Amino acid sequence: MNKKIIIAIDGYSSCGKSTMAKDLAKKLGYIYVDTGAMYRAVTLYCIKNGIIVNRQLDEEKLRAEINKISVGFVYNPVRNRNETVLNGVNIEDEIRGMKVSNWVSQVSAVAEVRKAMVEQQRLMGKDKGIVMDGRDIGTVVFPNAELKIFMTAMPEIRAQRRYDELSVKKEDIHFDEVLENIKSRDNYDMNRKESPLRKGDDAIELDNSFITPKEQLEWVLARVAEIVAE
Ligand code: C5P
Repeated sequence: MNKKIIIAIDGYSSCGKSTMAKDLAKKLGYIYVDTGAMYRAVTLYCIKNGIIVNRQLDEEKLRAEINKISVGFVYNPVRNRNETVLNGVNIEDEIRGMKVSNWVSQVSAVAEVRKAMVEQQRLMGKDKGIVMDGRDIGTVVFPNAELKIFMTAMPEIRAQRRYDELSVKKEDIHFDEVLENIKSRDNYDMNRKESPLRKGDDAIELDNSFITPKEQLEWVLARVAEIVAE
């Protein structure tokens, strides 16, 4: 497969986008970019720098500091994966917990935050050969992506997957809290003014409620094969 393409994977929270995107990137020898991690990193910055205080997001302070926030990825050879870096510090483990999850949708709804992240995402994809997952990749970041997938799964199944992931990390958590967070993030992401989460007309929908990661990888590889053969 010599023709390099851009693959955009969007969809609801915790429906296996990153599992499919990572598996696909590995199989194709493409770069994988988790854009949710970028918005999570900005959220962590807000928590640590007095932008989120007393249960309030200070949007004005966030807008004033957006240029001080640098987010990137670094390869960790021990874990054989890319990890998220915020202003030079590896914060991969810190951004996955509930504290960040509870604020990330509000932070990512701020126009200036989106503008800064989208700019970086477009740079990362300029040479193609990339799989990027998020909420607005096919609709906003790469409207000309050769392949666009919109993923979905039943909320209870998504919550169970996320709950299992967090339990492994020994986070003290209740299933209902995870389900509630997933539903409220989806709701927030779909109804925000800037780049709301929606399925683009040209995206192929995949409901993975009852299929395995192996099956979804085979499904998407078949879609890629069709495109590169054109
Ligand atoms: O993918 P993940 O669940 O880690 O994303 C966390 C949050 O970041 C989402 O709920 C959404 O609010 C935001 N996000 C976004 N645009 C993207 C990726 C994530 O607004 N491209």
